[in-house]
Amino acid sequence: AYLEQVAAVEASVGAYLVLDAEAVLERARSLDARRARGEKLGALAGVPIAVKDNLVTAHLATTAGSRLLSQYTPPYHATCVERLLRADAVLMGKTVMDEFGMGSSTETCAYGMTRNPVDTTRTPGGSSGGSAAAAAAHMALAALGSDTGGSVRQPASFCGVVGMKPSYGRVSRNGLIAYASSLDTVGPMGRTVGDVALCLEAIAGADDADSTCLPGAAPPFWGRITEALAEDQAPLRGKRIGLWTEALDDIQVDDSVRATILQARDTFTALGAEVRPVSLPHLAAACSAYYILASSEASSNLARYDGVRYGARDPEAANTVSMYTSTRTHGLGEEVKRRVMLGTYALSAGYYEAYYRQAMRVRNVITLALRGLFEDVDWLLAPVAPTPAFRLGEKRAVDMYSGDRMTVPASLAGLPAISVPGKVGEGQLPVGVQLIGRYLDDEGVLLAAAALE
Ligand code: GLN
Repeated sequence: AYLEQVAAVEASVGAYLVLDAEAVLERARSLDARRARGEKLGALAGVPIAVKDNLVTAHLATTAGSRLLSQYTPPYHATCVERLLRADAVLMGKTVMDEFGMGSSTETCAYGMTRNPVDTTRTPGGSSGGSAAAAAAHMALAALGSDTGGSVRQPASFCGVVGMKPSYGRVSRNGLIAYASSLDTVGPMGRTVGDVALCLEAIAGADDADSTCLPGAAPPFWGRITEALAEDQAPLRGKRIGLWTEALDDIQVDDSVRATILQARDTFTALGAEVRPVSLPHLAAACSAYYILASSEASSNLARYDGVRYGARDPEAANTVSMYTSTRTHGLGEEVKRRVMLGTYALSAGYYEAYYRQAMRVRNVITLALRGLFEDVDWLLAPVAPTPAFRLGEKRAVDMYSGDRMTVPASLAGLPAISVPGKVGEGQLPVGVQLIGRYLDDEGVLLAAAALE
C-alpha cells in the first residue's frame, strides 16, 4: 500500500532520493515467511520507515544531500538504522535533505528539493523535509530525521506531523553524518505521538560506538504513557507548564501560530495543568550563538571531505592541493561553503575569543536559565517557528536563520523537545506546538504531547 502511495504522489512531492521498490517488497516477503514459520517478530515488524540521507546505510548510497558524496556507499548501518532493522521494520528508502543538514527548507539538496504535500508551492521545512513529507503523505508510516537546531521539529510543524528531538545522548550518533557534533540528535517523525514513541524506543539506548550516547536501555515510554493517560480524566493535574512569553509576543509571529499556541494552553488547562507565562530574555541570543557554534563545528567536521577518503574526487587535478580545492569547489554547495567560511572565521586566532568563546558563554547562560526554569515548571510551551510553511524560493539564508530562534534553545541546552500538530481552522496550513522538557525527561515530553493529541 505504501509503495502504491509513493507511485501516486512522489512525482509531485519528491521526498525520496533512493527508493528500491523491489528491495522493499523482498524485505516484506521475507518477514512474511518468517512469520509463517511461527517466528516471533520484533516490535516494528513490517512497518515501512523512511530514513534521512545523512544516516548511513550499508550497500545503499548515502549522500547527505551533497554532490561531494555522490559516489559514497557506506560499508555499515548507522546504529539507529541497525536497531530499526533488528525490530523488523522495513526500510523504505532514503529521504531528501538540505545538504549536510544546513537549511530550513530542503532547498539546498544537490539532487533537487521536496515540496510540502499539504501545498506543493510551499516548503516542507528542513532540513529533514523529505522525512516529514514522506510521513505526511503516507509514503512511509514513520521516518527518521536529524535535529541539530530544529530540523525535525520545524518540518514536522510545516507538514502537520509529530517530530521529536530526544535529549542529547539519548540516541546514538554512530553513523549520523556529522554537522555539529555537540548539537546533533537523531529523531523520529510520524503521524501520531504513539508512532514516534515506539520508534524512539526502538532506536534509543546505550551504544559503545558513540561515547556521547548515555548508558542504559531506553524505557518502554509508550506503555507507561498509555497507562497514565487511560487512568484519568485530568492526566496533567498538578503539572506546571511555562508559556514562553517573548516568543508569543514576537511581532513577526503569524496570527495562526499565536492562536494555535493559545488553544494548546487552553487544552492543557482543561486537562488539569497550570499554565503560567514565563519570561526568558536570555533566549533572544540563542540564534546568534547557535549559528556561530554550529558553523564552527561544521567547518571542522567537513574538513574530512577533501577528495581523499570519501566520495567524488576531481580526476584532472595536477597536484594534491589543487585536488582538495577543486573537489570542495565543485562538491560543496553555496550554503555549505558559507557555513564553512563563517565557522573558520569564528575559530581563527584573533576572532576566537570574540565569537566562538563568546557564543559558548551564551550557550552556558541559556542552559543555566532553562535548568532554573525547569525547577518551577514541568514543560515549556512555545511555537516551533514564527510562521507556517513559507513558499519555495521565498526566503533568503539570513531570514531562514532567524526563523530558527524558537527551536535552537532546546538544542543548545540538549533538552528533549517535540512538535505536535496543533488545532488549526479548516483549510489552514498546519502549525506545530512545541513542548520542551527537562533534560532526559523524554517520556514526560511524549506524555504532554499525547495528552494534547
Ligand atoms: N536550520 C538550522 C540550520 O540550518 C537547523 C538545521 C538542523 O537542525 N540540521 O542549521
